[in-house]
Amino acid sequence: MEATAPLVVAAAAAGVAAAACCCQPTLRPAAPRIPRPAEFRRKREALVRGGARNLAVISDFDRTITRCFTAAGERCQSCYNVADGALTPEMAAYKQEVFEHYFPIEKDPNLTVDEKRPFMLEWYRKSNESLVSGGFRRDSLRSAVSEAVAQRRLELREGFGALLASLQAHRTPVLIFSAGISNVISEIFAQLLPSVPLAPSTQVVGNTMTFSDDGVLTRFEDPLIHMFNKNQSVVPAGSQRRHVLLLGDGLGDVTMADEAATEPEIILKIGFLNENVEGLLPQYEAAFDMVIVGDGSFSPVADIVQAVINSD
Ligand SMILES: [Mg+2]
Repeated sequence: MEATAPLVVAAAAAGVAAAACCCQPTLRPAAPRIPRPAEFRRKREALVRGGARNLAVISDFDRTITRCFTAAGERCQSCYNVADGALTPEMAAYKQEVFEHYFPIEKDPNLTVDEKRPFMLEWYRKSNESLVSGGFRRDSLRSAVSEAVAQRRLELREGFGALLASLQAHRTPVLIFSAGISNVISEIFAQLLPSVPLAPSTQVVGNTMTFSDDGVLTRFEDPLIHMFNKNQSVVPAGSQRRHVLLLGDGLGDVTMADEAATEPEIILKIGFLNENVEGLLPQYEAAFDMVIVGDGSFSPVADIVQAVINSD
């Protein structure tokens, strides 16, 4: 019989301090929360029975694969923040101008998603076009990533490298899916995970910059990926798997596996609720099968993947 109270996996006592925390990094991450234990067990057991040959992983990047806070307690930079380091002063000023115009629209509680969508598209297009017309350069992007990595302005979540290596060793499709810039994500991986080069089974899908032979940005490839179309309709067709392990830190991430040509039979959804835990926990527990709170590690995800791999 399904318990009515959310199940908290082992070491519950360790989670008390983190669950009460709303905006600071935690030294002792809380145990993952499982709001519907019977449903979680059913999905987990199906994934384990199906083994690695039936599994695909779909993961958001910013503050899912990266941490929300660095070890020094600073907020981690997103891949767009990192790319800002490559902007000229003119590009940065224009970016700020459009931000001030469109950000209030994005956050307007009186507008529906459908009403916001055209404005969000306009925002992305204007920002992207300003980079093309401003002569954005690939070498500036690489230096911006190197600088962010050297200054530890972003860090990968603990356990991600080992998890990726394990998934790649079993040729499990991994889709790293972002409304950010795919070139930045690939460069971050190359610099932070040199021992785990991305295998053909791993795909990074985001907004992709195309450069000329002499390294100047010529265009962003279609389709434009933003917070309201981040689903399989914008992902090139790849190998379809029956089971999906979905990882994200935003409520919008729960639909990343939707709109596929063939719907997966099982989608086990794991959410990272990094901050404002008390305020957002009910929504995250409604949307995800497991919620990792307080900027926690990949360890609960790795446990599931290991069980799936071991069953082969
Ligand atoms: Mg994110």
